[in-house]
Amino acid sequence: MAHDNVSMLSPWIRHRLVTEPEVAGAVLGRHASSACGKFVQEVCWRTYWIGWLEQHPGAWSRYREGLDQGLVQLDRDALLLDRYLTAVDGRTGIACFDAWAAELVATGYLHNHARMWLASIWIFTLRLPWELGADWFLRHLADGDPASNTLSWRWVGGLQTRGKHYLARAANIAEYTEGRFDPRGELVEQSAPLAADAPFVREPLALPARPLSGERSGLLLTLDDLHPESAFESSPGPLSMQPVQWTACAVLEPADIGSPLAAGAVASQFRTAALEDAARRAAVLSQGGVETASPASIVDWARAHSLRQVVAPHGRVGSTRPVFDLLGPALEAHGITLVQWQRKWDAMAWPHAARGFFAFRDHIGALTADCAAMNRSA
Ligand SMILES: Cc1cc2nc3c(=O)[nH]c(=O)nc-3n(C[C@H](O)[C@H](O)[C@H](O)COP(=O)(O)OP(=O)(O)OC[C@H]3O[C@@H](n4cnc5c(N)ncnc54)[C@H](O)[C@@H]3O)c2cc1C
Repeated sequence: MAHDNVSMLSPWIRHRLVTEPEVAGAVLGRHASSACGKFVQEVCWRTYWIGWLEQHPGAWSRYREGLDQGLVQLDRDALLLDRYLTAVDGRTGIACFDAWAAELVATGYLHNHARMWLASIWIFTLRLPWELGADWFLRHLADGDPASNTLSWRWVGGLQTRGKHYLARAANIAEYTEGRFDPRGELVEQSAPLAADAPFVREPLALPARPLSGERSGLLLTLDDLHPESAFESSPGPLSMQPVQWTACAVLEPADIGSPLAAGAVASQFRTAALEDAARRAAVLSQGGVETASPASIVDWARAHSLRQVVAPHGRVGSTRPVFDLLGPALEAHGITLVQWQRKWDAMAWPHAARGFFAFRDHIGALTADCAAMNRSA
């Protein structure tokens, strides 16, 4: 389904088939920053949410606890289950909600406005637990991302920016959809935000690690970063990495997409195709070919290739971190080091994402200065 004024690039950026500096550099190389600054800022929202969640992992664990409780409630409360199914099946009778629910499931994509309206109607009109809605999005969006999704839902509910919530307004929906929908009289337009939850403890960011050159090295790709060709490019500055010879390469099967429920068909197909594409490209980089590995088989794979280090993209909160928390010590027991690399973009940006977006925004110029220059000289 076509949409005006948006790139629809998010599934590719989410899995880093296309990277943030590549997108920002491409537009800054062709347009004045006064013309494309807003778009670059949108790209940086993703970076901001990831950096914030990396430093507040409690937001993910609390969301997962809330989701588990919501799922238990669905088992126990037939009326709640009926309201939930009515919403996710797009049978609420609110035409805009039902159309976007169907679009989400059929296409794996929604415009940002539709995501905001849908989440707001879910929380304030349908009065359903927000965690169940966030889970529904995460499972069906091809760009489903633990950081952008969870924190955007928290923001709509008024939890992320304390006391500031987003209420969908019928007149606004009628205006922006150019009359396709007019839900006047159907929405709750006055409501208090969700009850505030306790603040999260800020945790230090992991320091960027570097692979050792000269060691037998295995490249392990995950859904968080499927573009190894650009991950190790030697760039000036203290965060550059030396090129490594890859003895073997493996692509990590997605064990858990952040939900105990099944992923939507479109999102699953996108991820499968993305992993296959990355595996084909990685085969050129590695002497020993590419294998697909489950979290449980990585240690055997590394030992079979006599690896001394396994190099993987940073294990993100809500994504690969729990797998790597177990894998690191399991590899170490066999004298193999797990090295989690960080891209220069992340290492530069994340430390500034500890508070609100406006404080982070001040650093976007420095973050994008490099990629704009690179693109101009290309
Ligand atoms: C309730 C809710 C849930 C969301 N869940 C997700 C999610 O699971 N995954 C996800 O990638 N985005 C999520 N978003 C953010 C945003 O809606 C999408 O990134 C955007 O709609 C993607 O479409 P696009 O590529 O056409 O965006 P464009 O407008 O073309 O923007 C370009 C890029 O900027 C980034 N971006 C734009 N807007 C945002 C934003 N508000 N927050 C973070 N990054 C942004 C994306 O990488 C996007 O591809 C959510 C927003 C809301 C309100």
